[in-house]
Parts: sequence; structure tokens; C-alpha cells
Amino acid sequence: MNCPACEGTLSEKTVGGLTVDVCEDGCAGLWLDNFELEKVDEQHESAGEALLDVTGDPGLRPEGDDPYACPSCSDGSVMHRNFFSVKREIEVDECPTCGGVWLDVGELGALRRQYETEEAKRRAAEEEYQRMFGDELDRMRRESLDDLQRARSFAHALRFVLPSYWIPGDQDWGAY
Ligand SMILES: [Zn+2]
Ligand SMILES: [Zn+2]
Repeated sequence: MNCPACEGTLSEKTVGGLTVDVCEDGCAGLWLDNFELEKVDEQHESAGEALLDVTGDPGLRPEGDDPYACPSCSDGSVMHRNFFSVKREIEVDECPTCGGVWLDVGELGALRRQYETEEAKRRAAEEEYQRMFGDELDRMRRESLDDLQRARSFAHALRFVLPSYWIPGDQDWGAY
């Protein structure tokens, strides 16, 4: 697999039972398959700690805002930038096709410092969304299929900030 940021070759690295792809000889970015991010994004998760040591070549660090092409999908899927949490400080690149995530160098460390646990992250997200969209969510729960469709894309956008709302059937306003 080639690095989406600097086009170097990604190498596999196994830490704590998890195998990820890192741009070790290049920009030090990190590729995580679907659902791997949640195994390394908290401070107590030692696999994530080990991945912070990847240093790479500072001269190859990515610049610019061009979206990355997914390194895993062969169909040219373009990755989307999503906020990692309701703090809106860190964006990560996610492939809409395979669900993989690309982290530029430094992003893993930054997001591991945001919340100590998944529970703390979830609580912060719930409070924020209740504040912003509480009425809207209640309404969507009651209304038509159109709204359900909108709610689905809404839930998709929330995948990183509120993973439990993304998992089918695990939302308190109904199953997707
Ligand atoms: Zn790279
Ligand atoms: Zn992909």
C-alpha cells in the first residue's frame, strides 16, 4: 500500500495484537483499518502509545488541503475529513468506502490527549449534541421516512464523535 500523503511505501507494524500500516520511511502518517482507531485513541491503550514513536522524515510531512485518495481502495475513493470529537480541534481522514482512517503525523498523539476514555468522549458528545440538536433528534425520532433518511446521514457524520450512534440499532431514537 502506498502512503496517501507522500506516496512512500507503507510498512506493516504490529503493536499490542494490532497490525497497522505506517509510513515509517516517509511522512510518519498512519493507516488504520475500519474500527482500529478506537483501539488506539485513548491514553490507557498501550498499542497507541507504541505508535507514537514513529518519527519518519520531517521533510516529507504533508502540506495543503487536498483530499487524500484512499490507500486501500482500488476504486479511487477520496477520503473525507471529519472531526474526531465535539471539541472540533482535530480532523482525521476517513474513507467513505472502506471506513479506514488516515492520521497525519502528530494527530494520534493529539487525539489521545483529548479524552481519557471512550466513556468520557461519549459523554462530552452526548452533552454537546443534546445542547445543539436535542429538539431535532426528538423530532426525527417521531417523524417520517424522509427524516429518517436525513437522520442516517446525520448519524454517519457523527460516527467519530459518537460511535455508538453509528452502530446499527444502538441509537436510542431507533435502528438504522
Ligand atoms: Zn507518507
Ligand atoms: Zn478505502
